[in-house]
Amino acid sequence: MSSIFSKIIAREIPADIVYEDDLVLAFHDIAPSAPVHILIIPKREIATANDVEPDDEAALGRMISVGAQIAAEQGIAADGYRLIINCNEHGGQEVFHLHMHLVGGRSLGPMLTRPKKRRST
Ligand code: AMP
Repeated sequence: MSSIFSKIIAREIPADIVYEDDLVLAFHDIAPSAPVHILIIPKREIATANDVEPDDEAALGRMISVGAQIAAEQGIAADGYRLIINCNEHGGQEVFHLHMHLVGGRSLGPMLTRPKKRRST
């Protein structure tokens, strides 16, 4: 079944698109978690990272190079940013069309909450 992101590719629903080529599309996240929050997706419908096939490697590589290009255009490349791909329930994936989050524009802190260190006595 097509996800909401396939509908964005097909222009059936609107999105604030910032980049498109033959392999990928990039658009602003509808509920940004940071001053810059852009989603970069392959045009092929790939549900999750578990479903990536060898033929998808060009699109996945393109997603990272386009992410870096957009980061530069958004003025966040030098300070830095984070590229995130969530997978399935434990990864917190909500939309089942593979996508990479480009987030930045502020310090993002540690990637994961780290377990508290035991105090030595
Ligand atoms: P994930 O939890 O990794 O599956 O992330 C899904 C992301 O898609 C969330 O950050 C949502 O805010 C975003 N999102 C959902 N629907 C739309 C939409 N129509 N346009 C733009 N972003 C969306």
